[in-house]
Amino acid sequence: MRVFCSSAKYSAEPSRRRVKRLQVEVVAQMGKDSDFLGRDILSIRDYKRDQLERLFHSVEDLEKSPNSLDGLLKGDLAALLFFEPSTRTYSSFQIAASTLGMQVTGFASPAGSSVSKGETLHDTIRMFEGYGADCFVIRHPMPGAARYAAETTDKPVINAGDGSREHPTQAMIDLFAIRKAFGKLDGLKVGILGDLKYGRTASSLAYGLSNYDVEMTFIAPEALQMRPEVQHFLKQKGITSKSEKDLRSVVSELDVLYVTRIQKERIPDPTEFEKVKGMYQVNLETLKEAKPSLKVLHPLPRVDELAAELDATNFADYFVQAAAGLPLRMVLMSLVLGDGS
Ligand code: ASP
Repeated sequence: MRVFCSSAKYSAEPSRRRVKRLQVEVVAQMGKDSDFLGRDILSIRDYKRDQLERLFHSVEDLEKSPNSLDGLLKGDLAALLFFEPSTRTYSSFQIAASTLGMQVTGFASPAGSSVSKGETLHDTIRMFEGYGADCFVIRHPMPGAARYAAETTDKPVINAGDGSREHPTQAMIDLFAIRKAFGKLDGLKVGILGDLKYGRTASSLAYGLSNYDVEMTFIAPEALQMRPEVQHFLKQKGITSKSEKDLRSVVSELDVLYVTRIQKERIPDPTEFEKVKGMYQVNLETLKEAKPSLKVLHPLPRVDELAAELDATNFADYFVQAAAGLPLRMVLMSLVLGDGS
């Protein structure tokens, strides 16, 4: 962070957490938004309803005045370290950072970096820290990698997806998109369909929705149902959820249908993938009984689970959802790195 002395940069590993905590305390005294400023964004579970609502209001403000944050973070450097492929998340963070005036460094896939020679996550982070990175945006196939990265550096770390576990900024975008479509989240019936076991966006969305008064239905073949730890978390919070195998049996009740692809690359056994492949598809026929006001979302990319014939219908909200990624990530970076209020 520009406002902080980083003399502890090269100090022993255990003191890094303490330095980060002190930084956040200094920021709080300065009257900035200490829920975001200088913080790591590792899990959507760390965010409560009022914090999310503040974020969403700022995104609405930015949508009304699209140039209002241009150049705000001039002189800062964002390191985007993507150890897994990405289209939307990488490019929207890149455009967001550039529009905020930041310089951007890093890599979009490990193939073009020393990671392909065996360099560790730790060393990669320390190296970009040495080049003056003010924040890190990290995607990694290992669950928990973003948290590990946050322990490695004093600088804020934004989790851009860690294995099958979490994708907090995608969940923020998804909540924002639903809220935009309906003007609210409370009172909605949300179906989450697909690979809920390995899909990080599905679990992050469920965590995020738990801040609102919604009814969730998890629709998936048994082998891909929502992970027990997510179901446990929801139960602890007193959130109503149910599990179904077949979209047709619940489609008429839903306000939102959030579709996800099968995470082929994360299913450890290829024979398991063969068993579930092609088990669900959302198309005009499967939505025959849906409410005309139903909105279909998808974090993208889609493979064969969401038919292109829906693109021209009022159900389709997925490209609007994807577009919201840019202003939301701009606001988030401005809140984490500067005064975005
Ligand atoms: N783009 C999302 C992710 O990174 C969804 C997906 O890949 O299926 O998790």
